[in-house]
Amino acid sequence: MELRIRNLSKTYANGVVALDRVTLSILPGMFGLLGPNGAGKSTLMRILATLQECDAGSVFLDDIDVLDEQDEVRRLLGYLPQDFGVYPKVTAYELLDHFAQLKGLAQRGRRREVVDGLLQQTNLFEVRHQKLGGFSGGMRQRFGIAQALLGDPRLIIVDEPTAGLDPQERVRFHNLLSDIGDDRTVILSTHIVSDVADLCASMAIINKGHVLLCGEPARLIEGI
Ligand code: ADP
Ligand code: ADP
Repeated sequence: MELRIRNLSKTYANGVVALDRVTLSILPGMFGLLGPNGAGKSTLMRILATLQECDAGSVFLDDIDVLDEQDEVRRLLGYLPQDFGVYPKVTAYELLDHFAQLKGLAQRGRRREVVDGLLQQTNLFEVRHQKLGGFSGGMRQRFGIAQALLGDPRLIIVDEPTAGLDPQERVRFHNLLSDIGDDRTVILSTHIVSDVADLCASMAIINKGHVLLCGEPARLIEGI
């Protein structure tokens, strides 16, 4: 699906301008949003995920008005927030099964198929009966992706997912993202240049709430 963001602005109650007339078009595949801390990335991700309001502007996902038709958007969306929490005392299988139930997958056998499939896809099948509290950072992030993929979303938003991962886990995570970006629209926010350079077909550079540049990583990153 195609996401069209026009003149999106957000000022927080304390006067901080987090987004200032952001305009972006995002096509299917992997899109990278690159910017330093405080650039406005999380604010933009939360607004796209219908979890926060903006002050002005418009967002369309194909012909769906994202700022208005929230239920519709949520059905099509998988969102992995920055620093999402996990319940440490349940296993990966149990929690994913629970979220699958919340998503409306009522039938046990069908749910097991879906949950097992997601655990396989994210390389967590072997550790599915381990408690989440014992998971490494990389395992947690992959679990987050499994959770975000429940319901087969068409748009996936991942906010700073590779921060704190070691190089080996980062490669693993990159492989997983390019796998899921094959037939979906995936937006990856990051402050790490190699995330977008390795993965994304197109990207934007954002700073202080402004989109500075937009285009192909190979072209833009040369100029950084
Ligand atoms: P990024 O994700 O790129 O680090 P954020 O969207 O988190 O950027 O933040 C953009 C700016 O908005 C920063 O200056 C941040 O301090 C400020 N900010 C974020 N959330 C809030 C909030 N709830 N209240 C006030 N200011 C905020
Ligand atoms: P929201 O409630 O903001 O729409 P979610 O639907 O993603 O966000 O999450 C619902 C609840 O589940 C929240 O309380 C959130 O903290 C919690 N949650 C989200 N992801 C996980 C996770 N991987 N493990 C445990 N709890 C989570």
